[in-house]
Amino acid sequence: MKRREEMTFLERIYVVEIAKGLRVTFGKLLGNLWLHVLHALGRKTAGAAGVAIQYPNVRRPYPARYRGRHRLTLHDNGDIKCTSCFLCATACPARCIYIEASEHEDPNVEKFPKRYEIDTLLCIYCGYCVEACPVDAIRMDTGLHPEVYPADPRLFIEDKETLMERSSLLEEHGPEKLYEMHIQRMQQFEKIVI
Ligand code: SF4
Ligand code: SF4
Repeated sequence: MKRREEMTFLERIYVVEIAKGLRVTFGKLLGNLWLHVLHALGRKTAGAAGVAIQYPNVRRPYPARYRGRHRLTLHDNGDIKCTSCFLCATACPARCIYIEASEHEDPNVEKFPKRYEIDTLLCIYCGYCVEACPVDAIRMDTGLHPEVYPADPRLFIEDKETLMERSSLLEEHGPEKLYEMHIQRMQQFEKIVI
């Protein structure tokens, strides 16, 4: 399709276009208001009124396959499962996983990550790292939005300990309690910022 380069006279004076925009905005506003009034009166309507979800205090259920915050999974004895194979870091399109591998003192364990970090400000939450991992050592099944930290970019880098602790917390409390804890942290953070 050929794009029209020139504006017409009416478009150039803007007033008509502004009026058109306002007509759409107020049309939607009044339409929604009317639907809400009908709903409040208990009337069923063919259309659904637009609803603002007051996140994070209210939320819609996440789909089962929602890719939430990362966690590093653990063996039953609490040891990290990750074998420092670097496949997740290689697959990551945002280049936001940093791993430092190290020899393990246990001769049965070949390698483990001395350092494992995810820069959550760079992460695009695509889940490729989870797909790439051959030993199920990283998951994004927390069902939560990315963590919110104070306004220092360094604080958004989640280290190995944070990612491991998340697995323990999920195991101990379950996803709903984890969400409550997340909300409490966000509310405290809002109090500091506001
Ligand atoms: S979710 Fe995607 S962008 Fe984020 S760490 Fe994993 S692979 Fe990288
Ligand atoms: S999380 Fe999985 S893919 Fe990434 S380094 Fe560890 S074992 Fe390899």
